[in-house]
Amino acid sequence: MSALSLYIHVPFCRSKCAYCDFASYPGREGDWRRYFEALWGEIDAWAPRLVGRRAVTAFFGGGTPTLMDAEYIAETLARLRRAVPFAPDAEITCEGNPGTLTPEKLTVLRGAGVNRLSLGAQSFDDALLTALGRIHTAAQTGEAVRMAREAGFGNVSLDLMYALPGQSMAQWRDTLDAAVALGVEHISAYSLIVEPGTPMAARVASGAAALPEDDEVNAMQRHAVHALAGAGYGRYEISNFACRGFECRHNLVYWDRGEYLGLGCAAHSLLEGRRFHNPESLDGYLAGGREEEAQRLTAADAAEETVMLATRTTRGLDLARWEREFGAPFRRGREAALARLARGGWIETDGGFLRLTPRGMELHNAVVLELLEDTKA
Ligand code: SF4
Repeated sequence: MSALSLYIHVPFCRSKCAYCDFASYPGREGDWRRYFEALWGEIDAWAPRLVGRRAVTAFFGGGTPTLMDAEYIAETLARLRRAVPFAPDAEITCEGNPGTLTPEKLTVLRGAGVNRLSLGAQSFDDALLTALGRIHTAAQTGEAVRMAREAGFGNVSLDLMYALPGQSMAQWRDTLDAAVALGVEHISAYSLIVEPGTPMAARVASGAAALPEDDEVNAMQRHAVHALAGAGYGRYEISNFACRGFECRHNLVYWDRGEYLGLGCAAHSLLEGRRFHNPESLDGYLAGGREEEAQRLTAADAAEETVMLATRTTRGLDLARWEREFGAPFRRGREAALARLARGGWIETDGGFLRLTPRGMELHNAVVLELLEDTKA
């Protein structure tokens, strides 16, 4: 049986956060039922094509999958299990917004087999949460973790954000300390990306919000790496930290270029050497659009993706596997770039893996471009 990961997108939110450009729709409560029925239809339609597969991870992301009645998620999981067998130890994650959780919802999710909860905490500073347009408070995040434990969740993750307009290093420190104090198993720490077209982009453009300088952003990232390591969270990807054994297996599949099927609006897939995605818009999905922009990947595409994704992880790029997959040593054609990057302290090679140093990770895109550039010259 070949391993498969499943991503299920739930594109509804109570309101839109100021920085958000994800496929998420507030005010569409009237479409919830219709959406899940379309999603269940998509799952049923995939079932005959999943023979011989076994689900090793499933991830309900959004949007806010905990916004509606948890029975929707439970029914979706039941349908998925009918479509494809799940490994007994499958990791099943549900993202949740602390402002939408109740003990009842968490009990239903846990009872349905969800065994990992990923909470969008973002900050433990209420003024920053308000500026981001989040619907929850810092106290609600603490309460959500407590409720999750009571419902039987032994694997809880918090998403945090730094490089926010007006955020001081002291506030970032306090947020990290508060997250650690909650004793969660996993922490993701993302730098704010200001996406064009968002209210946040307009605020920055008008001068109403000022972003921190690059030096400050790097200092915040360094502080996260240092503080989380001190608290027992190993960094396993640029923005992800976990207690040993609690690394997110679903996300590791993405970085490893494992196979995954995305279901629901805006969900992306990598399956049998093809990338494709469902319509980005809710209406496009409800109108029946599926598997758009299918692209069969060439060896060059796969090689490029491998460099971009594997170098995000602290494990790094497996050099022996590269040679098996692409028929030539990774070094070939890259001798000059590798020497330059190693001299500069951006990369290191050790135990058959090439990885970015912490300094290299701060400039991940630039290092990757250099690794890719030499072979194109
Ligand atoms: S909760 Fe998440 S998906 Fe929803 S609007 Fe906020 S950032 Fe976007």
